[in-house]
Amino acid sequence: MIPMVDLRAQYASIKEEVDAAVLDVLASGQFALGPQVSAFEEEFAAYSGARYGVAVNSGTSALHLALLAAGVGPSDEVITVPFTFMATVAAVRYTGATPVFVDIEPRSCTMDVAQVRNAITDRTSAIIPVHLYGQPADLGPLLNLAREHHLTIIEDAAQAHGAEYRGRRVGGLGDFGCFSFYPGKNLGAYGEGGLVVTNDEGQAKALRSLRNWGEDQPYKHERPVFNYRMDNIQGAILRVKLRHLPAWTEARRRLAVAYDEALTGTGVVSPTVMPYAHHVYHLYAIQSSDRDRLHRALGQAEIQTGRHYPAPVHLHAAHADLGGNAGDHPHSETAAQRTLTLPIYPEMPSDVPERVAGIIRETLSS
Ligand SMILES: *Cc1c(COP(=O)(O)O)cnc(C)c1O
Repeated sequence: MIPMVDLRAQYASIKEEVDAAVLDVLASGQFALGPQVSAFEEEFAAYSGARYGVAVNSGTSALHLALLAAGVGPSDEVITVPFTFMATVAAVRYTGATPVFVDIEPRSCTMDVAQVRNAITDRTSAIIPVHLYGQPADLGPLLNLAREHHLTIIEDAAQAHGAEYRGRRVGGLGDFGCFSFYPGKNLGAYGEGGLVVTNDEGQAKALRSLRNWGEDQPYKHERPVFNYRMDNIQGAILRVKLRHLPAWTEARRRLAVAYDEALTGTGVVSPTVMPYAHHVYHLYAIQSSDRDRLHRALGQAEIQTGRHYPAPVHLHAAHADLGGNAGDHPHSETAAQRTLTLPIYPEMPSDVPERVAGIIRETLSS
């Protein structure tokens, strides 16, 4: 069985380092936030080319707090894409703001920046581009637009640790960058985790306060505050794993090249890497009108595949009140029907792309 991701294989490769780091935390008696979390915040911010990092308990919490720090509330609109993991939109709704969707650009599957200008109203306060599958959205024109209209850019970088836009790491390019350390992400905790990066010292302070019951003014805060703290144990684990992330990213990129080559001529569409992008392949997403048939055939051959994501968010029942209809965002809807994600993880055997391509070729020619 080839899984989508093999966390046991990864743990086996770093067991000694991780075990030692965890045992140190157990002995230290510090569990909620703590020195390992603080050190990880600095190291991850530096890795992402940002000044400050504020660790939280999930990527969803990271998005929620970035929105709150940006001042987003019930009277605001936030522009994002419907072709994303549901958390991007859920976080907007937690603030009471209204999500406004623009479609994706069909090759990159990231925000079609050309459509954003028309979606801006006098209620718009923020834009959340999603660096889907590990490829940055087209941030340059988006940042210009945001400057022109005084809007906040919150990068959803949950799938894009170490991805680069025109040679610069994502996260610190917008006003806030939100990362997830869900176990299966490119950098994963052994539990839940997330982090916001920012270059603004005041906002970093605000984020720290929001995540920890208003720590700077306990019992006196003027707005709701949260318990979104990261565990010290997760900080220690993430520090160990961050040291391996560059090598893991290179392994993903090598496997992606192997997939690109093996899939040539099979009739499926391989991912398009945009000229501005350094892609970190959280997922290797292909497109085919026979997606479901390929999913079944690969499953029979003991190769797990995924559908990320089978329904665009504007068509989720949870957001029916926003009035989204089929046909509103055709590229997102088509991508939801055609996208198949193939196994990719640093420890994956190097012959898998060839095997997968063989099954795809056979299936589509029968
Ligand atoms: C995983 C993910 C999130 C949410 O992160 P959690 O840590 O699971 O809360 C948000 N956005 C995207 C695009 C994601 O892939």
